[in-house]
Amino acid sequence: MNKPSDTQSIETVSLWVNGRKQATASSRLGEVTNPATGAVTRRVPFCNRADIDAAVAAAQAAFPKWRDTPPLRRARVMQKFLQLLQANQKDLARLVSEEHGKTLPDATGSVQRGIEVVEFACGVPHLLKGEYSEDVGTGVDCHTVRQPVGVCAGITPFNFPVMVPLWMFPVAIACGNTFVLKPSEKVPSASMRMAELAKDAGLPDGVLNVVHGDKEAVDAILNHPGINAVSFVGSTPIAKYIYETCAKNGKRVQALGGAKNHAVVLPDADLEFAADALIGAAYGSAGERCMAISAVVAVGAAADPLVALLRKKAEAIVIGAGDKEGVDMGPLVTRQHRDKVTGYIDQGVKEGAKLVVDGRGQKVPGYEGGFFLGTTLFDHVTPEMKIYQDEIFGPVLAVLRAKTLEDGIALVNRNPYANGTAIFTESGGAARRFENEIQVGMVGVNVPIPVPVAFFSFGGWKNSLFGDLHVHGVEGVKFYTRTKVITSRWPHQDTPAPGFNMPTLG
Ligand code: NAD
Repeated sequence: MNKPSDTQSIETVSLWVNGRKQATASSRLGEVTNPATGAVTRRVPFCNRADIDAAVAAAQAAFPKWRDTPPLRRARVMQKFLQLLQANQKDLARLVSEEHGKTLPDATGSVQRGIEVVEFACGVPHLLKGEYSEDVGTGVDCHTVRQPVGVCAGITPFNFPVMVPLWMFPVAIACGNTFVLKPSEKVPSASMRMAELAKDAGLPDGVLNVVHGDKEAVDAILNHPGINAVSFVGSTPIAKYIYETCAKNGKRVQALGGAKNHAVVLPDADLEFAADALIGAAYGSAGERCMAISAVVAVGAAADPLVALLRKKAEAIVIGAGDKEGVDMGPLVTRQHRDKVTGYIDQGVKEGAKLVVDGRGQKVPGYEGGFFLGTTLFDHVTPEMKIYQDEIFGPVLAVLRAKTLEDGIALVNRNPYANGTAIFTESGGAARRFENEIQVGMVGVNVPIPVPVAFFSFGGWKNSLFGDLHVHGVEGVKFYTRTKVITSRWPHQDTPAPGFNMPTLG
């Protein structure tokens, strides 16, 4: 790792507890790098149990008052927060690009998708309304209320430093909860900036807290008796661990995991259109998206012309630093991750896949220390190969071949991941069959990355999500609230005698 000579000048990121920056109680620090240059730009505290205790204590102290704040007043804070996010969108995107490596336009788009969740959160009061039934028994009424669950925590991945935290805390907070956010230690700065903006928007101290770190901080969250619900987004092994640990500890949990997203391309598709869509979906953000297309299933006669188009377009992609004009694809997040992805390319060659475009050895003049890797395209990949089975999370696209739509659907359905998928076709009948039979949580029809808009919910199936409810949209509101059912009778003329049988109310 390249380190600047004057290590004293490197800022250490703070925690955000009770509405202000705080130093860590831990002696462990990590390093944040600029992936384009390889330079260490910041240090990040690896929080310990005492740090987590302090953040949870602040969130617990803030909860009673925030819970009792009328939903409309909470929504007004969200409206102000929305305005501040919009006003600071460019700066947030710059922070994302600087710590993650993605291009500025891509980072700006991801911040926009996060902002849209805050727009949704402004309308949450409407979704907090309960139900009411009069006379469920003689003189007996029944109603429901949705109440906040208490202190919630969010643990987020490196690849969307603004959008994924915004999937969580605005909805939780608008529902009346307080929140402890632990962003990825690779990209800590955007979360700190959002916490400052939330305070400027009028969010009371302690409602949103930000801690940093690795497994030690996460375990302290998972085992903390003061935390009632945990939202997680990250890789599948960790998602499974989060789900199991929270379940053991009696916490409400949603744990979104990794992915292997397939696009099925039928011979009747507009192949030029499909290839353009696939190139963006495979190589955008250097393939480091949970909804990236990493496997193309070319059906029948689509295969050869599609691979030829993909090759031409993959070779034309401009690779460079994310903040440079005209760049399509930036570096990978860390050197270690770049080397891991390179290892998969070596393995694919050994496994006998046909390497059509080789991204190894990519150089970017002036950025020799950066974590760059070129676009890579494999053809004739089979389900037995590791490059198909594993989530590579880099700019590596694998083409598999299937004889029929039926074979293509069966192949996708055998994969243990099930986050997103897409079909490219001109046939309504084929698309409808795909929509109906595919065992995947989010489906695109001629849409390569079908990330639902904020007022729908986001989530995969199978190993891509452990838990019952997706994030944001109505499912997010359900996750962050508990239903209480109240049955009431007001004694008046016919006071019933005490009873010992199961009440039937009628
Ligand atoms: P990751 O699982 O390594 O880390 C995610 C979070 O878990 C981070 O905050 C990290 O600090 C923490 N963590 C890491 N190791 C841990 C451990 N051993 N114990 C406890 N906590 C731990 O994921 P990542 O590399 O940051 O992000 C990439 C992954 O996230 C990919 O698998 C990608 O598909 C997935 N992802 C999924 C979605 C989705 O919506 N399903 C969205 C974005 C990213």
